[in-house]
Amino acid sequence: MDQVKLQYFEDLLWKRYTELQAVEERLAGPGGLGEPATSAIGELAAYDQHPADLGSEVYERSKDLGLLANTRRQLGQIEEALNAIERGTYGICRLCGGSISEERLEAIPETDRCVACSSAAKFPDTTERPVEETSLAQPLGRSFTDEQGSWEAVADYGTASSMPKEEKELGGGQRT
Ligand SMILES: [Zn+2]
Repeated sequence: MDQVKLQYFEDLLWKRYTELQAVEERLAGPGGLGEPATSAIGELAAYDQHPADLGSEVYERSKDLGLLANTRRQLGQIEEALNAIERGTYGICRLCGGSISEERLEAIPETDRCVACSSAAKFPDTTERPVEETSLAQPLGRSFTDEQGSWEAVADYGTASSMPKEEKELGGGQRT
């Protein structure tokens, strides 16, 4: 990769890094997770609160914790990528040693693997999907697309023999 391109991606990485740092500060700082849950809901103690009142706050906080973990992971990946630029290994797939396409780097500048390696099931690319996606419902969340484990995942929702009657009736209409 030539110097101009490298400089371009370095700028891109720093831009993302700064943005993510702001997100991290907002999530972890005062008013965010840095504050006890009781002050976030405007109460002195949690013990006299109805569980339902705390529920939404707990939900918000767990969502924020997921986002925070994801943000920190991405910050780490960007640091890695910036190190790679210094070492002269940026844009080279960590797994196969091939070069990562510029379109891919444009979309995910912190990635350290090529499309082929990232789509290989053996090495799921954690840089591509946000962690909160696993807790989101359809159509935003992840659907069952992998061959292995699909049945187990679907079976968690109940099978024809264990599914409640109403569910079966609801689902029945959507089947084609
Ligand atoms: Zn590769």
